[in-house]
Amino acid sequence: MDGVPYFVTLDEALALIHQHPMELGVERVPLDEAHGRHLSEDLPSLVDDPAFDNSAMDGFACQYDPDANYPLTLSLAGTVAAAKIGDNVVVGPGQAVRIMTGAPMPPGTSAMLPIERCEVDETAATVTLLEAPKPHFVRKQGENLRAGSVALRQGAHMTPARVGLCATMGYETVPVWQRARVAIVSTGDELVPPGTKLAPGEIYESNSYGLAGLVAWAGHTPVRFSAVSDTEEALREALEKAASTCDLVLTSGGVSMGEFDLVRALMEREGDMKFWRVKIRPGSPPLFGTWNGTPLFGLPGNPVSSHVVFRLLVAPFLRLATGADGPAEWRVRAQLRDRVKSTNDCLTLRRVTLTSTPEGLMAHQPRHQGSGNLESLASADALTLLQPGQSGEVGEWIDVMVLQA
Ligand code: AMP
Ligand code: MG
Repeated sequence: MDGVPYFVTLDEALALIHQHPMELGVERVPLDEAHGRHLSEDLPSLVDDPAFDNSAMDGFACQYDPDANYPLTLSLAGTVAAAKIGDNVVVGPGQAVRIMTGAPMPPGTSAMLPIERCEVDETAATVTLLEAPKPHFVRKQGENLRAGSVALRQGAHMTPARVGLCATMGYETVPVWQRARVAIVSTGDELVPPGTKLAPGEIYESNSYGLAGLVAWAGHTPVRFSAVSDTEEALREALEKAASTCDLVLTSGGVSMGEFDLVRALMEREGDMKFWRVKIRPGSPPLFGTWNGTPLFGLPGNPVSSHVVFRLLVAPFLRLATGADGPAEWRVRAQLRDRVKSTNDCLTLRRVTLTSTPEGLMAHQPRHQGSGNLESLASADALTLLQPGQSGEVGEWIDVMVLQA
């Protein structure tokens, strides 16, 4: 343990994990498989968007004449539908064409008026524009994106809109970082899988399920191991297997000061520990290091703590590997409507619900805040980010982290 940073601030812990980034490979995936992934390269658009000047609405297109008076009757020179090139339609002075949303503006036109502001006389083949046609109802070639301009950068988290944008830019497949395989190893003699009957002293193992969901939310692949009993041999064997088959190992439990806190004891003796204990509450026991060169987070056993530590330490570590710009929780201001107990030395993360009011977001703390009370997290909207020494009085405006996933 000598020299291993102990009870560090969150910023110190983040700085230490930044010194040991995980390395991932890259691959190309079809767009259907790109959701939730992270780009491994900047993506320049392959085309102009729009690719051609086109009408933003259904209506009539003509040449814009600043000197004309309205209403103005023009003769109809034809119709242009989406996907039809209007080249064969020649629009001269005194003429207009019927045009559909998204259809190319034919030569000789520079403005359009939506159909609701026009009167058509089919027999006379004329249209009367009740007001001036609008040049800004024409979507200009390249006004959204020019071919060659980079719209999505390396590390971009592929949200549905971004996957759609890749298609707009002409990509059928995109280069992404490979998903990290993240081992999840729960420890504890008392843990049994849900679905079995509890014997006295046993509890259902829950951390691995929640953590697996968080890993998937972050865009990576969870690999859930069966819970490991509190013996050094069993734990060593599980760590060997996890470290040799996965890119990152998460353990839960066994990192406190107790006699059976074997993860900490084994990492101290046989692993390479970079820090132990962080000034956050709940969730102060975690450790970070490597096991045979594979990065490892020892998360606390208490269910709320393991989730909180994932969000504060593991998620940033995963984002670091891919330069990811998401997913990440929003940090917003909220006013405390219940008193929240802060501490002198730790960042305090209480589970609160949020209500939106004309005065801003209001944070309530309706639940008992034990770190074993997973229901308090399941029913929460956000975590307080109460700084050491901040009062936590009713009426105080504080930062909160809005929970997603
Ligand atoms: P530990 O850090 O191992 O002392 O565990 C702290 C508390 O969390 C104890 O009450 C454990 O029973 C509980 N706990 C540990 N691991 C899990 C788990 N995987 N699922 C649910 N509860 C757990
Ligand atoms: Mg334990």
